[in-house]
Amino acid sequence: MRIRYPKYYETFRCIASDCPDSCCKEWEVLVDEAAAERYLTMEGALGDDLRRYLYQDGEGDWYLRITDGRCPMWQQDGLCRIQAQEGHEALCQTCQDFPRLRHDYGDFVELGLEMSCPEAARILFAEKAVWQEKEIPGGEAPEYDGQDMQILLQTRAEMLRILEDCRYSVPQALALALLYGYRAQDALDGAELTEFDPEAELAFAKTVARKGNVAALAAFYLELEILTEPWRQRLLHPQGAGQWDEKLRVLARYGVERYWLQAISDFDLVGRVKMIVASCLLVRHLGEDLVETAQLYAKEIENNIDNVEAILEAAYTCPAFTDDKLLGMLLQ
Ligand code: SF4
Repeated sequence: MRIRYPKYYETFRCIASDCPDSCCKEWEVLVDEAAAERYLTMEGALGDDLRRYLYQDGEGDWYLRITDGRCPMWQQDGLCRIQAQEGHEALCQTCQDFPRLRHDYGDFVELGLEMSCPEAARILFAEKAVWQEKEIPGGEAPEYDGQDMQILLQTRAEMLRILEDCRYSVPQALALALLYGYRAQDALDGAELTEFDPEAELAFAKTVARKGNVAALAAFYLELEILTEPWRQRLLHPQGAGQWDEKLRVLARYGVERYWLQAISDFDLVGRVKMIVASCLLVRHLGEDLVETAQLYAKEIENNIDNVEAILEAAYTCPAFTDDKLLGMLLQ
């Protein structure tokens, strides 16, 4: 089986006590069955405390109950008590993995880092992904159609070229990305993949663009599930919409690398490309430190499947997400 990963995946290290946010805050950690069993039988004071905080929800999943806004195993020095006493292997799978992403497509796997971790966000904005590949034992026949995956791989590569083409400004590149998303969707739906002429597409986009309102987008995000007060405050009191920061290209590229191939399961590229473009518009609108705002966005949205699904649906139903308005927010 082929495994594909950016170079920084291997070098990532948690900065623990130096982390300005911490994955041990706000989130209730999903504890896998094997770890729950270990915790339930662990001896000593640590085992007693784990049993006090471990609970099972209505669906039978195990969680560690958040206490004072944090994981109860978090210590004042920023380190995890389980890891400090029992070592990395004693952590549940969620904590061992985070912020490492693994997308398994059967015959190949892609790895990455989640932007919701501040250290991962710093790396993602500082270093361009240098992709590497290697063969590892294992793998199984994919459940998807091989030709569909070829189209996704081909259109993702073209999408990344469009986003990185410095002849076009950041908002122009995002407008082109939106339009190319439709071209790629058509190909995925069975049409022939035709040549994409950026100049002609931009001229077309200008005829379609109509006044959009990023505040309406922010209002939509306010209705989603909100985890932290700083995020709510940013949505309520946006500080941005100044220059188009080049980092927004990085944010869009991250979104494409993370979400594009997932369309193999539901064939929805348009929803994903709108979600990516909207994330760039929103992060710019909210302002403050762009890396920090993007990290908060990822923590609030990307780690909450209900929020992601709500956005994918809104891409087709919410007036703030219509193509003409998105293009207007980018080009007018
Ligand atoms: S959010 Fe990232 S850097 Fe911070 S504690 Fe978690 S893994 Fe470490």
